[in-house]
Amino acid sequence: MFNGAPVLFESKSFSGLATWLGKKIEFRPDGDAFSALAGVNLNRAPGRYPLALGDETVDITVIRRVYASSTITVPQKFVEPPKEVQAQIDEEVAIKQNVFNSSGPNRLWHGPFVAPANNPCTSSFGLRRIYNGRTQNVHQGLDYTAALGTQVTAANSGRVEIARDMYFEGGFIVIDHGESIFTLYMHLSEFLVREGVGIDKGDPIAKSGSSGRVTGPHLHFAVRWQGDYLEPSTLLGLWRSGRA
Ligand SMILES: [Zn+2]
Repeated sequence: MFNGAPVLFESKSFSGLATWLGKKIEFRPDGDAFSALAGVNLNRAPGRYPLALGDETVDITVIRRVYASSTITVPQKFVEPPKEVQAQIDEEVAIKQNVFNSSGPNRLWHGPFVAPANNPCTSSFGLRRIYNGRTQNVHQGLDYTAALGTQVTAANSGRVEIARDMYFEGGFIVIDHGESIFTLYMHLSEFLVREGVGIDKGDPIAKSGSSGRVTGPHLHFAVRWQGDYLEPSTLLGLWRSGRA
């Protein structure tokens, strides 16, 4: 396990609430065992951290993963947004925050998370990016090469909480999978779902595009758990080695 990693904790015998890195997680029935999906913040220092399961504590080792950096050039309005769009950006931040704070306690996801497109990935999670030689931030998702109009599907079951255009994200979908786990899809050209609808894993939700802060057409896919963005490709592989 490394900084930025999602993790699927599994136990043969423990169910109920546990504590990990100061956050509450819940082990729930999953096949013939119990599981809880969690993660490690990108900036977490390496070390051993306790997973508290009732009276019992298990030490978990977090190792350091080093992420690369790159430079990128986008239209200047995405590095220094004009004054007249600031109110819009503020409003969008509030909408997102409200959604991210309102995930229900029920588990809506089930089994493996699946890739939202059958395309190769170009840019990975955790990359430190310098925009136009100035603004710096961390790439919080995974980019899929996707020609305009490529079908985008839901990574797991849940509820569509956001399906609208936003300044930086462009065409933007957020799915709540319950337990404060969200997947995000950006730069879309067309919505195939509306806000408020329930969807199943693999359902078509949108067509990809090149809207928002982009250098060209692609799909940006992100995973958020209890306020932390986690590495999507690791999440998609969590079930590959063991039982599904
Ligand atoms: Zn991206």
